Amino acid sequence: NRQWVLRQRPKGLVQPGDLELVETPVPEVKESEVLVRTVYLSLDPTNRTWMNDSEGYLPPVGLGEVMRGLTLGVVEHSRSDRFKVGDVVMPAAGGWADYAVVPEAGLRPVHRAPGLPLTANMSVLGMTGLTAYFGVTDVLKAKAGETMVISAAAGAVGSIAGQIAKQRGCRVIGVAGGPEKCAWLTDELGFDAAIDYKNEDVGDALDRLAPDGIDLNFENVGGDIMIAVFNRLKVHGRMAVCGLVSSYNATKAPPSPNFARIITHRLHVQGFLVLDYAPRAREMVAEMGPWLAEGKVKWKVHVDDGLEGAVDSLNRLFTGDHDGKLLVRVSEE
Ligand code: NDP
Repeated sequence: NRQWVLRQRPKGLVQPGDLELVETPVPEVKESEVLVRTVYLSLDPTNRTWMNDSEGYLPPVGLGEVMRGLTLGVVEHSRSDRFKVGDVVMPAAGGWADYAVVPEAGLRPVHRAPGLPLTANMSVLGMTGLTAYFGVTDVLKAKAGETMVISAAAGAVGSIAGQIAKQRGCRVIGVAGGPEKCAWLTDELGFDAAIDYKNEDVGDALDRLAPDGIDLNFENVGGDIMIAVFNRLKVHGRMAVCGLVSSYNATKAPPSPNFARIITHRLHVQGFLVLDYAPRAREMVAEMGPWLAEGKVKWKVHVDDGLEGAVDSLNRLFTGDHDGKLLVRVSEE
C-alpha cells in the first residue's frame, strides 16, 4: 500500500522531499469498516493550500500524515452491511494512497451517470460541476444579458461555469493562458470572447470587449487578473470569489484590489465553498444531465497514470500544463 506522506511544508511549487512515497501494510478492516482500492485521485488547486500551516476551511495536513485528497474507489473487502465488495464509492476523507480503510459512515455510493464514464463523477457531475453550477446560479445569480468574466476559464471549473452562464443567457468572456485554450473557449464551448493573459494585457482587452463594464466576475485566479476585472465592475456588479490559484504557491502576499470600489460601485462580493452545496447536488444533476446529454455542456478530463507521479501532476495545476479536470488513475476500474 503506497501512500504519499507530507514531510515538510513546501515553499512555492511542491519540490522533491516535501512529500515522500512510503510503503505500508494495508490496514486491518474492523467492524463497520470497508477497504477501498483507489481508482481515481482528484488533484485540485486547494490541495496545495492544505499543505500550509495556515488557517483554512479544513485543518492543515499534519507533517507525517498521508496527503488528503478526494478519491473514487472500489470496495475490496467489507465488514459493513451497507457496502459490498465491488461497490464504487467516494470516501469523505480520501487520501493519496493505493488503499484506504474507511468507516461506513464516511462513504458515499457512486451512481454512474448513464452513458458517461466514471470520470464524470469526479468532474462535471462531481465537485467541479457543483462549484461551477452553484457559483453561477446561486452565488452570482446570473441573468440573461449580463456580461460575465471568468478567470482560469479553460480550467475544470471555469470551462463549465462559462457554459452554464451561456445557458443562462449571459455574455461570457474567459481569461486563459495561451492561444489553444482561448480558441477552445470560443470555437468549441461558445464563449463570446477569450483573453490570452499570457500574450495580451487583460485590462486593455476588457476595455475593448466590455467597454460599458462588467456585471459579473467568476473569480478563480486572484492577483493582477482579478484586479483588472474588479476595476471594471459596474455599479451593483457582483463577484463570486471561487479561488485564488495564483496565490497558492506565493511566498509573499499578492496585490489586492482597492476596496473603495465596493463602496463607490455598491458591489456584491461573495466567497463560497462547494462543500456547503453538497446537499444540493441533485439540483445540479437535474439541470446539467440534459445539457450533457444534448452536448450543450462539454467537458474534458486530463488523466495521469500512476500514484507515483502525483506530485508532478499536482504542479500542472499551477503551470497550466493540463487539459481539463486533473485526475490521477491509481488503479484500473
Ligand atoms: P483548473 O482546472 O482551473 O486548473 C487551474 C488553472 O489555473 C490552470 O490550468 C491555469 O490555467 C490557471 N492558473 C494557475 N496559476 C495561474 C496564475 N498564476 N495566473 C493565472 N492563471 C493561473 O482547476 P480547478 O477548476 O479545479 O480550480 C479552479 C479554481 O477554482 C481554483 O482557484 C480552485 O481553488 C477553485 N475552486 C474552488 C472551489 C470552492 O469551493 N470555492 C471548489 C473547486 C475549485 P491557465 O493555463 O489558463 O493559466
